Amino acid sequence: RAKEEGKNQYRFFDGTMFPDAKETMEIKNSLRRALERDEFLIHYQPQVDVPSGRIIGLEALIRWNHPMRGLIPPSSFIPIAEDSGLIVPIGERVLQMVCAQSKAWRQAGFPPIRIAVNLSARQFGQKDLTERIKQIVEDNQLDPGDIELEITENMAMKDDKQATLQELRDMGFKISIDDFGTQYSSLAYLKKLPVDKIKIDRSFINGISRDHKDEAIILAMLLIADRLNLSIIAEGVETSEQLSFLQDNQCHEIQGFIFHKPQPAEMIEQLLHKQSAIVKGQA
Ligand code: C2E
Ligand code: MG
Ligand code: MG
Ligand code: MG
Repeated sequence: RAKEEGKNQYRFFDGTMFPDAKETMEIKNSLRRALERDEFLIHYQPQVDVPSGRIIGLEALIRWNHPMRGLIPPSSFIPIAEDSGLIVPIGERVLQMVCAQSKAWRQAGFPPIRIAVNLSARQFGQKDLTERIKQIVEDNQLDPGDIELEITENMAMKDDKQATLQELRDMGFKISIDDFGTQYSSLAYLKKLPVDKIKIDRSFINGISRDHKDEAIILAMLLIADRLNLSIIAEGVETSEQLSFLQDNQCHEIQGFIFHKPQPAEMIEQLLHKQSAIVKGQA
């Protein structure tokens, strides 16, 4: 339900939009326990290059496997994790799980695939963020180029954060701007930020063939990305009308239910197996 009503509105355990103080406290405590008991897991959503049909990347999306309530989506707990600061250890855990998975896939013989990880504002504000990220990646003998860090516009705009971004990029990480166009953005920042990619937010994709303003904005984003030499991916593509509009306008990277929903690592493995079988078959 909450998803249908827009991503900035959240519903909590009891179905209300705003949890009361008691419920917030309860969620906070169970989040702390969840970290200790390792109740978080990652689903991966494939990113597809449409002309070739190849999976070219994955986005890591956290889920909470609550012992009583089952699988809980991030919209129900990330805001509270942010407010309480618990997002910092949770985010670090996400990165650890993603790097361990990437290492396991590599050891199993899969060709390297880039995995995108969402960073939260709180996490991005940590003083020692770059060292921590570097450490986790090194512990798993990964190439930083196989990890993409997703930030949002607001996070990138503070001047002191641009040094952090530059440092991460110098280490070899890819940087993308998530939910592009939904926050306070300025084109001047796009000019000076060290980023590789922008992700067109689902709210614009939603408007394709329904609202010409959304279409106009998407076209403008595609043009800017092209001229600034940035990669661009459309997020939340669900219908064939949306897909053909994007294809007609040279947007070739697609992440959306029309191809794949986020799914557990085992399912992704099957997809990657199929893909490498096809590649070998062609060779
Ligand atoms: P996001 O980073 O913009 O991730 C994309 C969201 O759109 C995901 O929701 C994904 O399942 C959903 N989505 C993708 N394609 C489609 C589609 O075709 N149709 C529809 N209706 N939805 C689609 P999810 O997994 O519920 O995550 C929601 C948000 O929670 C994420 O938005 C991100 O902001 C946050 N989040 C998820 N994992 C993490 C994490 O590890 N750390 C942090 N800090 N935030 C996270
Ligand atoms: Mg994201
Ligand atoms: Mg996001
Ligand atoms: Mg997004």
